[in-house]
Amino acid sequence: MSALINAFNEQFLLEIIKQPDSTQAAEIIKQADQVRTQTLGATVQLRGLIEFSSYCRNNCAYCGLRRENRSLPRYRLTPIEIIETAAHGIALGYRTIVLQSGEDLFFTGKMLTEIVKEIKKLGAVVTLSVGEREVKDYEAWRKAGAERYLMRHETADPVLYQKLHPGQTLSKRLSLLQALKQLDYQVGTGFMVGLPGQTPATLLADLQLTKNLAAEMVGIGPFIPHLATPLKEYPAGTTSLTCLMIALTRLALPYALIPATTALASINSQGRELGLAAGANVVMPNLTPWKYRADYQLYPDKAISGAEDGETRQKMIEKITALGREVSDTSGHHPLWLTDSRDDGENNI
Ligand code: SAH
Ligand code: SF4
Repeated sequence: MSALINAFNEQFLLEIIKQPDSTQAAEIIKQADQVRTQTLGATVQLRGLIEFSSYCRNNCAYCGLRRENRSLPRYRLTPIEIIETAAHGIALGYRTIVLQSGEDLFFTGKMLTEIVKEIKKLGAVVTLSVGEREVKDYEAWRKAGAERYLMRHETADPVLYQKLHPGQTLSKRLSLLQALKQLDYQVGTGFMVGLPGQTPATLLADLQLTKNLAAEMVGIGPFIPHLATPLKEYPAGTTSLTCLMIALTRLALPYALIPATTALASINSQGRELGLAAGANVVMPNLTPWKYRADYQLYPDKAISGAEDGETRQKMIEKITALGREVSDTSGHHPLWLTDSRDDGENNI
């Protein structure tokens, strides 16, 4: 099926991306939904997300956690709190725990290694999303048992990347993503839709980069302006363009784990459903303790309650069942990663 995306010529893709509300775009979304059914079936993977620190050394222009945002109260969970929250999530039924934070060097490589080991003892799959760190740390965490790593490339335009990420480069990010691949992580990349300065050609490049990387996971969400950032005046990305990019990504990478993102659910009350109908097969409900949740403010009005609340897992299960889908009870690895190099007795397809 990935031949499909190759068969689209660039001009055709650009035209579609320029018209996300067209009938052709709707047709692409339908095709992506069919491809997802053929490759991965009806199952949806649920991941329990723990946002364990809102401290960040970076200054990404779009993000509410950027270091220059002094109006945001910062928090850190203690290692014990992280492990207890993970244990609670596992008891609720989550089989993957996603540990996400700003780039917070308070959590040394060693500390995170110990945390990963403890969560592995509880029997969960561990996904890390803690940004750019030293390759030796990535290696230690992989050895400690972490199986997945999420770090979006954010935008494939190197000039725009540099504008949005003072002091950082796209080439560094890509080389770290390659290093993660080499360490045998399932690697997640992804990008925002509707970033100021982004063009249809940028989005096409995002798609191509994602495919070239053969990413196992791809997170795609709308840019949402945060009032305490330099991008506060810009409009948010749209639901239709985000769903179209999810669909094109599904056609490009038929087996990828693609979340219907919280950002999409935050700009549209039907966002999760629309994402799942456009090729997505993952949802990441929030397990962060309530006293911290509102402070993990990547963007405003983040969807954190109702079915988004990991505690009320049943609500999300009902939502997914109502779509004619079912919640997976497997560990939810990328099927090709599983068959590639290991046999842990679980066939995930
Ligand atoms: N610090 C880590 C993980 C936390 S940020 C990292 O940067 O990888 C997780 C994701 O949130 C980022 O990859 C970015 O794509 C998204 N994000 C941040 N600010 C956002 C905004 N204003 N609108 C939409 N998504 C945003
Ligand atoms: Fe930090 Fe990630 Fe936000 Fe950038 S996107 S400021 S790295 S939390």
